Amino acid sequence: MRRLFVAGNWKMNTLAKSGVALASGLAAELPASHPGVQVAVCPPFPYLSAVGQAVAGSGVELGAQNASQEKPGAFTGEIGVDMLVDVGCQWVILGHSERRAIYGETDELISKKTAAALAGGLSVMLCVGESRTEREGGQTEIVLDRQMAGSLSGIDAEGMKRVVIAYEPVWAIGTGLTATTEQAECAHRHLRNWLSTRYNSPLAEATRILYGGSVKPQNARSLMEQPNVDGALVGGASLKLEDFLPIVRAAQSLRPV
Ligand code: PEP
Repeated sequence: MRRLFVAGNWKMNTLAKSGVALASGLAAELPASHPGVQVAVCPPFPYLSAVGQAVAGSGVELGAQNASQEKPGAFTGEIGVDMLVDVGCQWVILGHSERRAIYGETDELISKKTAAALAGGLSVMLCVGESRTEREGGQTEIVLDRQMAGSLSGIDAEGMKRVVIAYEPVWAIGTGLTATTEQAECAHRHLRNWLSTRYNSPLAEATRILYGGSVKPQNARSLMEQPNVDGALVGGASLKLEDFLPIVRAAQSLRPV
């Protein structure tokens, strides 16, 4: 049985004080690693160190929200993989729809970032997902196939051991609209079949596929109950302990120790 994974994407939110308070509160509630449920938080870059210190030794891991594909050098404003490892990150979110839509990140760039992150020792949460227009036009699976093929271009089966896929329908991110459990399960099954065809069946069975898009305490359990939903990437609801913790607890209730 795959270990569930609940990750919080704080996006461009919190300041040092509120971020550390949130992380400390979470670490106090999750003092040790849980065998059935992995948990991570992904704060903004300036707070990675402080949040990393707040969760050190607890059951909460640290991730970043983006990374450069480049090695250290003249890339003003960029953050390299080595720096993220240096401040204690185990994870990086890549290919988030906000990076794709607002900052023009292409599948080709995302595949370079994925390769760089894996080579540097990070694990990757790779986001894919269709827009509302694409879903309404019956293009969901075509879009997912294209994003998976492009973003994982050049990533071999060994590298995939440190990749988690996050299915995040763009129309559900930050909108309050959540995919139905059937819509989520159907997309996740499709992604797992894609992994089986592109790689192999054991790899597809082992790879975790998270759902993201307006996950809340009220819908988390029913989504994570689906056979192909292996956890949640949580945006807005990860910013309050009283919302994020029940999502983690819902996951733990599905993997009792
Ligand atoms: C996200 O941005 O990854 C996300 C899922 O956001 P929200 O939970 O706010 O929809």
